[in-house]
Amino acid sequence: MTLTNLNDKTLLVVGLGLIGGSFAMACKNHGSVGRVIGYDRDAESLKGAMARKLVDHAESDLMAAVQAADIIFIAVPILATRSILTLMQPHLKPGTVLTDAGSAKGMVVSDARAVLTVAQCARFVPGHPIAGAERSGVMAAKADLYVNHRIILTPMAETEQDAVAMVTQLWESIGSHIDIMAIDHHDDVLAATSHLPHLLAFNLVDTLAKNTENSEIFHYAAGGFRDFTRIAASDPTMWHDIFMANRKSVLLVMDQYLAELHQLRNAVAHADGDYMKSVFGNAKEARDHFSQILSDRQLKDE
Ligand code: NAD
Repeated sequence: MTLTNLNDKTLLVVGLGLIGGSFAMACKNHGSVGRVIGYDRDAESLKGAMARKLVDHAESDLMAAVQAADIIFIAVPILATRSILTLMQPHLKPGTVLTDAGSAKGMVVSDARAVLTVAQCARFVPGHPIAGAERSGVMAAKADLYVNHRIILTPMAETEQDAVAMVTQLWESIGSHIDIMAIDHHDDVLAATSHLPHLLAFNLVDTLAKNTENSEIFHYAAGGFRDFTRIAASDPTMWHDIFMANRKSVLLVMDQYLAELHQLRNAVAHADGDYMKSVFGNAKEARDHFSQILSDRQLKDE
């Protein structure tokens, strides 16, 4: 890959929460670009970003920030992407590279195609860092969030190769590893590996919390259930947006899961121990295999 000199480039990060703030801080600390500026619609987040030195400059005027930018990283809740693109579009410099962090890609891509010109679309590199945490906001940002984590890029048919190369170079400069994936495939894979598990965690914790007779369950919560509650502490707005943006893929995997759950219910109802053992055994084998892959690659999961 040919490296571009990014020393004279200005990176604009739009949305200075966990994902945007961490990216800004990592790029600034590594000297990946000449200057890092940040924009957020929330004045407290802008103040926090300056106080924590996540950016060289915090800008409250989006238009001024966009006019100064050579590369723009959008890290707002997915359903805010379209309005941000609409506000930025008239002020983009020719050639400015755009990328984003949205956890579902199909809707972001249709938003980009609806709002950007053909030339601007050619500079858009949709992306999704497979890294994160249950905490959100500027105070949760950390410089090493992406070290040894995978970043999935889902270039559109019209995305230019040099734009993909520049975004790849930025992520690699802060210790991340790039995978390229088709847009629909990304949304199917993430529906199964990330969106469904979060849905199950939200649902289980909500169901048990509603049942006041079960308050003891929280008292004795350990191991597995504690992990569910940790996942269920994720930001409701962010997850609302993800499920609204990825409904088709999530419904497919939910239906598959519900059918399997129904079979397991039958096994419990009919004391079918063989069926249960085969499901638990297969799951354990899959988990052992997965752990091996992770330790071989020394990559971290989300
Ligand atoms: P966050 O809540 O920590 O940060 C979002 C920031 O965007 C906030 O500072 C908020 O003030 C700002 N914002 C919201 N609407 C805005 C608007 N219209 N204009 C400008 N700023 C606006 O959220 P996050 O966890 O950083 O997630 C950001 C994006 O990254 C989401 O699209 C999410 O799907 C994606 N993502 C999150 C994770 C994760 O684990 N948190 C992982 C991968 C990808």
